[in-house]
Amino acid sequence: MHTLAKLPYDFTALEPIIDAKTMEIHYGKHHQGYVDKLNSALEGNSQLQAYSVEELLQNIDKVPEKIKTAVRNNAGGHANHSLFWTILSPEQTNPSEDLSKQLAKTFGSVENFKKEFEQAALTRFGSGWAWLTLKGGKLKVFSTANQDSPLMDGDIPVLGLDVWEHAYYLSYQNKRADYVGNFWKIVNWPEVERRLEAARY
Ligand code: MN
Repeated sequence: MHTLAKLPYDFTALEPIIDAKTMEIHYGKHHQGYVDKLNSALEGNSQLQAYSVEELLQNIDKVPEKIKTAVRNNAGGHANHSLFWTILSPEQTNPSEDLSKQLAKTFGSVENFKKEFEQAALTRFGSGWAWLTLKGGKLKVFSTANQDSPLMDGDIPVLGLDVWEHAYYLSYQNKRADYVGNFWKIVNWPEVERRLEAARY
């Protein structure tokens, strides 16, 4: 059984960037919904039930056709949100000197990285995610549609931003750019760096 991990902070912790009501519904209804639907899709398949959510996504081609879409959407939703909660923090943090160097090496500067990431988030039409991932030792920025996980293509996500309207609509309505711009104020950079280091080994 897949389960929802406890949030590492209160619903109010990310205010005013993300309001408490949005957090409550996003975590308690949307994320819980992905977990529940994933469990029900896997019902009766003890082999797939033994896989972690990451393993399911990395081996999506082996999932039977009949439940593939349900697993792709709901394992994706579960994995994406599980990462998302951990890379947010009520405490203001900054990329370390080492992480800044790594970002600058690939994107020119930390500011350029942020611009590219924002561009990915803003040009994703409809629902989806913007990502910073590691693949083959290289950092990449791109977006995915719906709940598609970078893990399905062998990328390891280290930073992700949910740009579904359910993530921001109560506070920001149609102003996705304001939500995306404010995101940097609540990024948990030490966690991003920890994930990047883990992805490298
Ligand atoms: Mn979401």
